[in-house]
Amino acid sequence: MTAQIIDGKAFAATIRDKVAGHVARLKADHGITPGLAVVLVGEDPASQVYVRSKGKQTVEVGMQSFEHKLDVDTSEADLLALVERLNGDPAVHGILVQLPLPKHLDEDLVINSIDPAKDVDGFHISNVGLLGTGQKSMVPCTPLGCLMMLRDFHGSLSGMDAVVIGRSNIVGKPMAQLLLGDSCTVTIAHSRTKDIADVVRRADIVVAAVGRPEMVPGDWIKPGATVIDVGINRIDAPEKGEGKTRLVGDVDFPSVSKVAGAITPVPGGVGPMTIACLLANTVTACCRANGLEEPE
Ligand code: NDP
Repeated sequence: MTAQIIDGKAFAATIRDKVAGHVARLKADHGITPGLAVVLVGEDPASQVYVRSKGKQTVEVGMQSFEHKLDVDTSEADLLALVERLNGDPAVHGILVQLPLPKHLDEDLVINSIDPAKDVDGFHISNVGLLGTGQKSMVPCTPLGCLMMLRDFHGSLSGMDAVVIGRSNIVGKPMAQLLLGDSCTVTIAHSRTKDIADVVRRADIVVAAVGRPEMVPGDWIKPGATVIDVGINRIDAPEKGEGKTRLVGDVDFPSVSKVAGAITPVPGGVGPMTIACLLANTVTACCRANGLEEPE
C-alpha cells in the first residue's frame, strides 16, 4: 500500500472537542445550551444506529438531545405537526429528520417544512439555493466533512480536477458545489456517464458516493490522487464466520490504496466526520439564532 490514510475518526474527535469548547462557553457566558432534535420514523436498522450515535455524541459534547421516534405508519400531518412544534421550540436549534422516510411520506415536503435556520442537514431548498449561489447557508454534513478533510490534507484545492461519482441531493450535488466553491474544476459522474473509468482517471480528487460496494477499482485512479470514499455498504463476510457481515465503501480499498496518494478508510473515514459536522452545524445554528459570533 502506498496511499496515506486520511483518518476521519481522529479528525472528527478534534472537531467534537472544539464543539464541546464552544458549547461550554455558550453555557458559561450566555446561559444557552444548544439543542438538537432528531426525528426517526419507522425502524430502519441502519437509521436506528445513526440516530443512536447522533444522540449519544450530542450529549457527549454537552448539548441537549431531543429524540422523537415515531411509528412507521405515522401520518404526514402528524409528522408535519411535530416539525412545526420543533420549529417553534426555542430550546431546539437544530432539526434533523432521518432519511429515508417511509414511502407514504413526501420527503421534499417534510424537509422543506423545517425552518431553514434550524435545518442542520442543509437539505431545505433555501439552504440548497444559498449554497449554490455561494451565500451563507447550512451546509450538508457529509459533503462538509469531506471538504474539511480535503482542505486539511491539501491546504488549497484551487485548480485541482475533482470528479464526484454520484449526483444525489444529499451527497453528490452539494459536494460538487463545495468543490466548485474551493475553485476545483468539477465533473459529476453518474450511472449514465460514458467511459467513467477515463473520466475518473483525470481526477486529482475523487469523491465516490454511489452506494455500490467496492465499485471503483485501482485502475480508475490517477497515481497520487486523493480518494474520498463516502460509501457505506454492508456485505457478507463468510471469512468472519457464518452469517457475518462487514462494512465496505464504494471504493475497492486494496487496489485503490496501491495507486492513490491518499484515501479515507471505511469505516473510520467520512462516517465519523458526518456526525461531527452535524454537531458543529447545530452550534452554528444556535449562535445565529442568538445573534452571537459563529465558530469558524
Ligand atoms: P443515492 O442512491 O441517492 O445516489 C447514488 C448515485 O450514484 C446516483 O447519482 C447514481 O446515479 C450513482 N450511481 C449508481 N450506480 C452507478 C454506476 N454504476 N456508475 C456511476 N454512478 C452510479 O446514494 P447517496 O448519495 O444517498 O449515498 C451514496 C453512498 O454514500 C451510499 O453508500 C450511502 O450509504 C453513503 N452515505 C454515507 C454517508 C456517510 O456519512 N458516510 C452519508 C450519506 C450517504 P443516477 O443518479 O444516474 O441514478
